[in-house]
Amino acid sequence: MADAILVVNAGSSSIKFSVFVERAGTPELALRGHIEGLYTRAHFVAKDAAGKTASEKTWDAGTKLDHEGAVEYLAAFLRSELAELRLAGVGHRVVHGGLEYTKPVRVDAGVLAALEKFNPLAPLHQPNNLKPIRLLLERRPELPQVACFDTSFHRTQPPVAQRFALPDELHEAGVRRYGFHGLSYEYIASVLPQHDAKAAAGRAVVLHLGNGASMCAMEAGKSVASTMGFTAVDGLPMGTRCGSIDPGVILYLMDERGMDARAIEKLIYNQSGLLGVSGISSDMRTLLASKEPRAQLAVDLYLYRIRRELGSLAAALGGLDAIVFTAGIGENSAAIRERVCGDAAWLGVKLDADANKKGGPRISTAGSRVSVWVIPTNEELMIARHTRALLGAAAPAAVVSA
Ligand code: ADP
Repeated sequence: MADAILVVNAGSSSIKFSVFVERAGTPELALRGHIEGLYTRAHFVAKDAAGKTASEKTWDAGTKLDHEGAVEYLAAFLRSELAELRLAGVGHRVVHGGLEYTKPVRVDAGVLAALEKFNPLAPLHQPNNLKPIRLLLERRPELPQVACFDTSFHRTQPPVAQRFALPDELHEAGVRRYGFHGLSYEYIASVLPQHDAKAAAGRAVVLHLGNGASMCAMEAGKSVASTMGFTAVDGLPMGTRCGSIDPGVILYLMDERGMDARAIEKLIYNQSGLLGVSGISSDMRTLLASKEPRAQLAVDLYLYRIRRELGSLAAALGGLDAIVFTAGIGENSAAIRERVCGDAAWLGVKLDADANKKGGPRISTAGSRVSVWVIPTNEELMIARHTRALLGAAAPAAVVSA
């Protein structure tokens, strides 16, 4: 009987999952899917490794499935679907590991309580990430669970990169730059040596451009700086998040517009970024296809911020050997990559236009001083690998009934 690892990424209204099966010592994707609309109209879909739909279900409008219902449905589905497999453990994506968790951890009640203390640091994500962990701990305490954090990869950053220029008391209380998208960056760092050994041992900037977007400066595969800070709203403009803004704007909104914390949260997380500037869409595809001046302005601003952050991260590294594009926009938009690379000509970037149109992996010319790559990220595989490693070869395996 082969071992399986379930990877879970629970958000506020959806649970994404993947099942990896151990083959020749490495986890291989067998199944992936999601349940969306947990508090509106729930929809479940599971696809096999080739992307073919294996199962699908839509609940009646008005049925609030919630996280508990979704975990129960998923457990029953996996029980029948994976009858031939042994569930060795569950790996969870957890946004915040604070300063303590510099690597993944096996979760018990004590660890869960420690992770709940980080809820105020990521109120929109952390409580939802932890819900399935709590449910499984209660119902299946013998099933090994591992939490993998988006912050861990950045704990190698030097102290100045993690510091705000605020009084020490606040820094000690945890008001500092944590950085996010760490599982994506860790995956890229793990495969970059196969593409470019020199860059992997040197200085690289990785652009994770998805709905959420950030950039990370790496030296010899370790994070030294990133655009996201205390929260995942910092840095680049994103689909609906504003990215860096003058903190004085927040004070102005409070004093002059009478906005409270919740109203500002909604503004900066859900109504800003590409959507806010364009007034049309948070989806880069829609904006690139639009002739509306505001859509073009949103794209121009997105690229302008990337251009400035790239200069800033190259300065933090003291030079640049490689650029890597990843995530939805980075992996799929040749137009955005072309403009980012054009803006980076001063750093020694020369784009190979044909290779870029084909999607890489290498999209810079042979003579480019900085090599440029398109590498699809795989956060789920990173979690599966961590989970496997932490369970160890002799981990107690629970018979499937997730
Ligand atoms: P998430 O951050 O939710 O994981 P993804 O990494 O899947 O998101 O990125 C989603 C984004 O990728 C979408 O908002 C979409 O704008 C963008 N995207 C996907 N394909 C393309 C494309 N061909 N051109 C431009 N943007 C794209």
